[in-house]
Amino acid sequence: MKSYISAWPKSAQLPDFPRSLVILGSTGSIGVSALKVVAKHPELFTVTALAGGRNAARLAEQCARFRPPYAAVLDDAVRAEFLALLPDGYRPEVLTGPEGYAALAALPEAELILSAIVGAAGFAPTLAAARAGKMIGLANKESLVLGGHVIRAACRESGAVILPVDSEHNALFQGLCGHGEADEEISRLILTASGGPFRGRDHAFLSTVTRAQALAHPNWSMGAKISVDSATLMNKGLEIIEACHLYGLPVSRVDAVVHPQSIVHSLVEFVDGSQLAHLGTPDMQVPIAHCLCFPRRVTVDVKPLNLAAVGALTFEPPDPVAFPCLRLAREAFDAGPSHAIALNAANEVAVAAFLEERIGYLDIPAAIEAALDRHVPVDVSTPEAILELDRAVRAEVLAAL
Ligand code: NAD
Ligand code: MG
Repeated sequence: MKSYISAWPKSAQLPDFPRSLVILGSTGSIGVSALKVVAKHPELFTVTALAGGRNAARLAEQCARFRPPYAAVLDDAVRAEFLALLPDGYRPEVLTGPEGYAALAALPEAELILSAIVGAAGFAPTLAAARAGKMIGLANKESLVLGGHVIRAACRESGAVILPVDSEHNALFQGLCGHGEADEEISRLILTASGGPFRGRDHAFLSTVTRAQALAHPNWSMGAKISVDSATLMNKGLEIIEACHLYGLPVSRVDAVVHPQSIVHSLVEFVDGSQLAHLGTPDMQVPIAHCLCFPRRVTVDVKPLNLAAVGALTFEPPDPVAFPCLRLAREAFDAGPSHAIALNAANEVAVAAFLEERIGYLDIPAAIEAALDRHVPVDVSTPEAILELDRAVRAEVLAAL
């Protein structure tokens, strides 16, 4: 059995339509885009559960519209706020916290789980969905960075299927689909990167950048954490690790190329030198709809791509000096699974501190490199060990900031 098949559903049983859908992180950027797809194709889905973090108002609005029988929020305070905002005559069952999210991911009546919580908090619910044999649309890349080995094993055991929502991995998935299981025919996966708002900038400029500048992504509208990850290129680093887990390749066979227009979403290279690219307007509704409706293709409210209007598509190598996060991610994945967990935890703590304007932009890679230098590998073969290491590294990095 060739490795990328585990994330490739050709031979898998997929649920019929309408699909019973759970969206974890429905109030975020991905969640909102997913609900646009659902609103356009209501006959294809039954919305069974919507889960948000702290944004009670947006979740209440979404639930009032889609009327799921279940919802989840971060804690009891948000739950009370949420319940007070619901219309008369509608009372979903409201779960809370990590256990609540995991319970929704494994609900017996749920068939399709969109994993779109941000950060390591997405790991446990994604694993719960994998263990329960669900069809999973995976946006939360951090869950594979933390525990790709555990999630893949759970999918193999339960028959769960992961469809990659992340635009690059979705592009690769589409490129790989027609090509059977012969993974020796694949020579390389090439992820495109926009280069973020600081492409072409040097160290002196980067030492002065602000939160607002880092959040102003040129092509994609996204949540705050992934926007900063795109500015440091850590997003591409996490995506290289995500691709290695999804498609079972070593990091030496996954490359990144900067493509400022974000029209080519990634490429698969075969041994004969052919490269298959996926092109489209940069809007997450496209890969979300592809995953939620797979193997069907449906219409989405996205302007079709007009290549003549785009004009030039350009490509350049990433700058390894200005953007060390790409190298740090590669080195961490090569060093082993506990290094990848340390990388992710350090990044989340540093990005949160940057967003709170407690540290500068260049302190982000510095904090990650220091955490990796300190890291002594430990056994992370269980979810408990993964979460324990995540907690420990966060505490260390926070103390060192
Ligand atoms: P976002 O910040 O806009 O939304 C995050 C969602 O998670 C919200 O619903 C929030 O309430 C919830 N949340 C936050 N912290 C939580 C916690 N501790 N427990 C439970 N819920 C929590 O983020 P986003 O941009 O939608 O990204 C979501 C995930 O998708 C990330 O892993 C990101 O890397 C990935 N992704 C996003 C995009 C994009 O275009 N936005 C593209 C590819 C991949
Ligand atoms: Mg991406």
